[in-house]
Amino acid sequence: MPGRAFHSLLEEGTLTDYRSRSLWLDGVPGELTPRPALGQALDVDVAIVGAGYTGLWTAYYLKKADPHLRVAVLEREIAGFGASGRNGAWCSSFFAGSRETTAKRHGREAAIAMQKAMFDTVDEVGRAAEEEGIDARFHKGGAFVQASTAPQLLRAQEEIEYERSWGFGEEDYRLLSAEEARSRIDATGSLGAYFTPHCASVDPARLARGLADVVERLGVPIYERTPVLRLAAGRAETPAGAVTAEVVVRATEGYTVELPDFERALLPLYSLMIATEPLPADVWDAIGWREHEAFNDERFLIIYATRTEDDRLAIGGRGAPYHWGSRVSDDFVRQPRVFEALKGVVRHLFPQMGDFAVTHTWGGPIGIPRDWYSSVGLDRPSGRAWAGGYVGDGVSTTNLSGRTLRDLILGHDTELTALPWVGHRSPLWEPEPLRWLAVNAAMKAMASADSYEERTGRPSRRATLVKKLIGA
Ligand SMILES: Cc1cc2nc3c(=O)[nH]c(=O)nc-3n(C[C@H](O)[C@H](O)[C@H](O)COP(=O)(O)OP(=O)(O)OC[C@H]3O[C@@H](n4cnc5c(N)ncnc54)[C@H](O)[C@@H]3O)c2cc1C
Repeated sequence: MPGRAFHSLLEEGTLTDYRSRSLWLDGVPGELTPRPALGQALDVDVAIVGAGYTGLWTAYYLKKADPHLRVAVLEREIAGFGASGRNGAWCSSFFAGSRETTAKRHGREAAIAMQKAMFDTVDEVGRAAEEEGIDARFHKGGAFVQASTAPQLLRAQEEIEYERSWGFGEEDYRLLSAEEARSRIDATGSLGAYFTPHCASVDPARLARGLADVVERLGVPIYERTPVLRLAAGRAETPAGAVTAEVVVRATEGYTVELPDFERALLPLYSLMIATEPLPADVWDAIGWREHEAFNDERFLIIYATRTEDDRLAIGGRGAPYHWGSRVSDDFVRQPRVFEALKGVVRHLFPQMGDFAVTHTWGGPIGIPRDWYSSVGLDRPSGRAWAGGYVGDGVSTTNLSGRTLRDLILGHDTELTALPWVGHRSPLWEPEPLRWLAVNAAMKAMASADSYEERTGRPSRRATLVKKLIGA
């Protein structure tokens, strides 16, 4: 049982090194000393399991709306320990969930409303952080998706046409010419870029830790080092006893599989990152990147990068193997092959950097639902609430989750509760060995599609086909 394994690790003292979990956690000022664990059984109105952004935003908006509500957060390690303290810093307006599917089920207007809600959410993260004095280093510089090969440029053009077909104009998405793109970020082989202003960069751990402090100040206890061993209607069981509540919110994302009865709910996939040392001003003058845009390119096996406040380049990518049985472990973030590949990507894209040292390598699990569609919801009769399945795009979406769960829990019908992802139920993942075979084969296919396109300059149909087959 995961809870038991966790306790023996605690006794050995191996889980205390929280700073080593990411560049961002390493840079958080002050101590990362865990808050007190839950010592006894507890009864509250709302119990939230997981102190990542989902759990913390939910606690925040609930308590702001109703200061009398008794809310408690239960966290197995410390606030921001999970993906929220480790991510790629993109607070983007990308929603993980097909617009076509949304339109088919709920109509075209609902699909457009969902996207607009995501635009607003980026701003709301910045607004709330500022209002609460959280030093999240929020900077809205947009997202820049470079096209480095002819097929990538074609995809960027198609994506812009696609946005136009949904009624989004130049102010939301536009194609930058090669010259415009290079004047923003001078990366090797740039043929142009897809650009949206609806994206900000943040310091992930400062956001998570700062938000936790705010939530605590609002009167919500955060019990750290408090693993929830089992969830049931109106009940979260911990080693210190049961927490009973009218509503129990599951906010455990990539770790959800470790909870009994949720083994096939979300597939944990590891995303890995490296960060360089701070780079000198002349290097940045040569590259540009003045607006700290979120950067990636149109390759299939995703990479994502950001210029940090202290002038490092932090870059991440998928490509770590999926582990049999959806196992989750921080041992899985040690993937020298992937880190070397990311270093190679940096060298190739930014030769201006010359020799550089990599000071941090890390990673963490993202949560993927079977239909690649994020969701939030509350089953009122059982009091079970959830949010997640963000497929690696949760930095902003978690904020929308928090506001939506507030409205659902308080019983308010609002624009947010009418959004099409509310109450969506994703199917379960297949049992093994199917899951293992399909996911690892799909990742291999993406990587080989990228090298095919680089080699031949022709679009790969294989990647599109594989994406269709796995429902991505
Ligand atoms: C390397 C990496 C890069 C990423 N880059 C981006 C990006 O650039 N942009 C973007 O939008 N998204 C990105 N993501 C995804 C994003 O970080 C997540 O979608 C988001 O942080 C999810 O927040 P959460 O609160 O739902 O989950 P988490 O932050 O994972 O929090 C879940 C919490 O639940 C706790 N928990 C789990 N099980 C239990 C239990 N049984 N009992 C008690 N507590 C428990 C965990 O310890 C954890 O603290 C990235 C993720 C990773 C790993």
